[in-house]
Amino acid sequence: MIVVLSKSASSHDKEMLRIYLRDRGFTLREQFLGEDAIIGASGKGVADIRELGLLPGVERVAATSKAYELVSRETKAEDTIVTVAAGPALPGVKVGGSRITVIAGPCAVESKAQIMETAALVRESGAVMLRGGAYKPRTSPYAFQGLGMRGLEFMKEAGEAQGMPIVTEVVSPELAVQMKDLTDMFQIGARNMQNFELLKKVGSLGKPVLLKRGPSATIEEWLLSAEYLLAAGTADVVLCERGIRTFETYTRNTLDISAIPVVKGLSHLPVIVDPSHAVGIRAKVSPAALAAIAAGADGLTVEVHPRPDEALSDGPQSLYPEQFERLMRDIEALAPVVGKELLRTPHPAAVRTFHGGFPPPDGARELPVAFCGENGAFAEQALMRAFGEEAPRLQVQSFPGIFDAVLEGTAAAGVVPVENSQTGSIHENYDLFLRYGDIAIVGEIKLRIVHCLIADERASLDSIAVVRSHPQGFAQCKEFLDQHPHWALEPAATTAGAVASIAREGAVSVAAIAGEAAARAHGLRVIKAGIETNPLNYTRFVIISRRVGDKAAVPPSLGSGPPSKASLVFSVPDEPGALFGCLKVLSDRGINLSKLESRPIQGKPWEYLFYADVSVPDTAGDFERAIGELRAKTRDFHHLGAYRASL
Ligand code: PEP
Ligand code: MN
Repeated sequence: MIVVLSKSASSHDKEMLRIYLRDRGFTLREQFLGEDAIIGASGKGVADIRELGLLPGVERVAATSKAYELVSRETKAEDTIVTVAAGPALPGVKVGGSRITVIAGPCAVESKAQIMETAALVRESGAVMLRGGAYKPRTSPYAFQGLGMRGLEFMKEAGEAQGMPIVTEVVSPELAVQMKDLTDMFQIGARNMQNFELLKKVGSLGKPVLLKRGPSATIEEWLLSAEYLLAAGTADVVLCERGIRTFETYTRNTLDISAIPVVKGLSHLPVIVDPSHAVGIRAKVSPAALAAIAAGADGLTVEVHPRPDEALSDGPQSLYPEQFERLMRDIEALAPVVGKELLRTPHPAAVRTFHGGFPPPDGARELPVAFCGENGAFAEQALMRAFGEEAPRLQVQSFPGIFDAVLEGTAAAGVVPVENSQTGSIHENYDLFLRYGDIAIVGEIKLRIVHCLIADERASLDSIAVVRSHPQGFAQCKEFLDQHPHWALEPAATTAGAVASIAREGAVSVAAIAGEAAARAHGLRVIKAGIETNPLNYTRFVIISRRVGDKAAVPPSLGSGPPSKASLVFSVPDEPGALFGCLKVLSDRGINLSKLESRPIQGKPWEYLFYADVSVPDTAGDFERAIGELRAKTRDFHHLGAYRASL
């Protein structure tokens, strides 16, 4: 049992608590868990948890059963990231951390043609793993039971054809052994969550496992089942909330949204949600899926069928491909709000060829990606969003340093901030694109910027006299700073740099404004989170790579698929209607202009360059023709790159 003390607990309260617990037979261990002071009470003691919760100085009481040690956050504080189907040529699909992983496919494999068709459709919309049941545990013995091993073979073929790992349900220990080499991940179905012999066998095979929550299982029972898997030997378990049985009958089950933050607090394992089995009604699947992402789910598993009306199982809850595509677009738009990025499928060929056009150094698997700033910088967050937490990084001290590293081949790519939703463009970096010719923009990332007041463990709001940050940090937190007019503001080169300087100096009267990651990276404490005036505060980073001829290497993690956005820079002749003529070229071809900005040309007073972001139409020829016409109408024309827009 864990007793979390309230911030205001006095030393008398604490002493009374110790006496209360010892009198009832507990052995006590006191420690800090993050910011919370806790008393761990173990042994054979007996106490009424509700009564304990009412004692002075007690914030809350958590009954821990030491039984689930391996899955517990107390055992491992950082998030587990599960990798499925990594191989020599493929990085594998990751679940957990700062990404949203979407698994999709039919309820059941019905035929080779059906699974091949569905795999292609869901991949096209952005799913990164294929689901499908070969063995179907159906409520009725007369319902379709699945195609068995033959179905699994079809599914493996479909997964391979689309470069997607597969996940399929296993229903018995004997079958687990037979299925091991065909599937990339085992699914333990809701009905089998407490089939302990199955859990032990599947866990011992060492493959990743997707563990569904039983329809009537408590969170603790679910975590204990995960404990079985970990105890048996696998390290890679993903939990899946799929609705529980309640008194409500309108939906098939009741999606327990609150289980997501609860489980993420209790366990380090990733949690995904199956909205299809949770609600059981096609029209309700997407809203539930979005709610799950908003609540912090690490991903989804969604049933999609090319013709749901003909499905042999769960047709009424299977999405039409168009609905799934729409859902994926909505998730992409929601992802930055919850500080995550939708994971995209790398193309196998791209993985082998991407090194920014350079071979990696001897012995190294990958070249690093460059960013400017200290550990924990927002740019580093953007980098991890695009390339994964484990991506090798190269820290440089200036923005031109990123371009140098990419051109020299010490970095495969670079992450460069270009615009903030509140304070506008970062002109220094726009100018660099022109100074460094052989650089192309190959991707973009929008990062939500949540500012925190960060200081030493011993500091408090009252002890602070000086606040350090980048001037943009001050500008974005003006309302909060206005409430503390006596604080002196000290500008720093970067927000994370401000945090690093406080950590070095060990000052208690100085605080910094920066992101939470910077506090973690430098071992400082967040005194107050979310102090930015406007919560809709985003910074847009672009990913740059070296251009070789008219081609640039696209990092595989940015996914394959046609570009949807392009960035152009041009100047126009000094004559009436010159800019209008250029915009008309775009308008005539239905090309949308999402940004247009002018910048003075260095060394040419009163002459301007235009920076434009435009949409790339699906019909590639149209875009090429528009570029050709623009070249003819402009003076200085630079096509900085075409890439997939981040919504
Ligand atoms: C399934 O995912 O196909 C399935 C049967 O789900 P559950 O075990 O959650 O009912
Ligand atoms: Mn189903």
